Amino acid sequence: MKKFAVIGNPINHSLSPIIHQLLAKSVNLNLKYEKILVDEDNFPKRIFELKNEYSGLNITLPFKQRIVDISNEKTLEVMLTGSANTISFENNLIKADNTDGYGLIKDLNDFGFDVKDSSILLIGAGGAANGVIYRILSQNPRAMYLHNRTIEKSMSMVTKWRNEYKSSIEIKLFSEDVKKNIDLIINATSSSLNSSISPINLSGFKKQALCYDMMYGKKTPFINCAIENNLKFLDGLGMLVNQAAESFRIWNNVKIDSLTIKKIKDELLY
Ligand code: NDP
Repeated sequence: MKKFAVIGNPINHSLSPIIHQLLAKSVNLNLKYEKILVDEDNFPKRIFELKNEYSGLNITLPFKQRIVDISNEKTLEVMLTGSANTISFENNLIKADNTDGYGLIKDLNDFGFDVKDSSILLIGAGGAANGVIYRILSQNPRAMYLHNRTIEKSMSMVTKWRNEYKSSIEIKLFSEDVKKNIDLIINATSSSLNSSISPINLSGFKKQALCYDMMYGKKTPFINCAIENNLKFLDGLGMLVNQAAESFRIWNNVKIDSLTIKKIKDELLY
């Protein structure tokens, strides 16, 4: 039986083992999927040990960047974002992918939102924001506005992605005067973990704007702010299940349909 695992520190909270078992059950596949707590000092050594026992690993905080350095093969997305969440062990090689951006776009599409030609505000400049920006830009939005508490980090992202995407996509820092243009506001910060206020004031955006919080599992200040301003909202559970389904496809060569993804989301809510 093939063995997989998610590694991180901390790791206890991870829903990945449950999601991967539900994905496997949906296509009658038998596999093992475990959670492994990895000590930060031991990281590369542990990966090389796990290589002999597992077919693939999901990588979560704080290792998404460090795994890139020790991978032998990387997708373009991994090279550009410098972040990976899925590795496959094949012919003694470590192959790195990033399925977070795929998960976000698929969840938005399943909700009925098309990124193409939309104006998007991405809040945050940490691993999550940097991990998904390539996939968002590759859908050809009209404009991409960036915002972060430490604004210098958003400024570096603007410079980097303008250089990578010498196209018609407008990439710039968010300012109050563009609020009415924005179709999608993505909260890719961890502010809900340490603050009781939304990382952005959601008043003044257009009525049709969709507010997407990458956090899941609770009503965050960002979601509450969307509700107060009568805006549509979605949390990150669908992104989580869809990124897992894409890792599952990479490892097992089986694509999971949207109805099954929805059923798994519903099961996780109960
Ligand atoms: P990082 O620690 O790398 O980055 C944190 C970001 O949040 C930084 O931009 C930081 O700003 C900002 N931030 C932290 N506290 C506040 C605050 N009080 N007010 C405003 N901004 C704040 O975390 P990640 O990028 O890895 O993760 C971000 C979130 O995305 C997490 O909640 C995580 O659970 C979620 N996530 C969800 C996924 C899913 O599948 N649904 C997948 C991946 C992540 P600054 O630079 O100023 O410190």
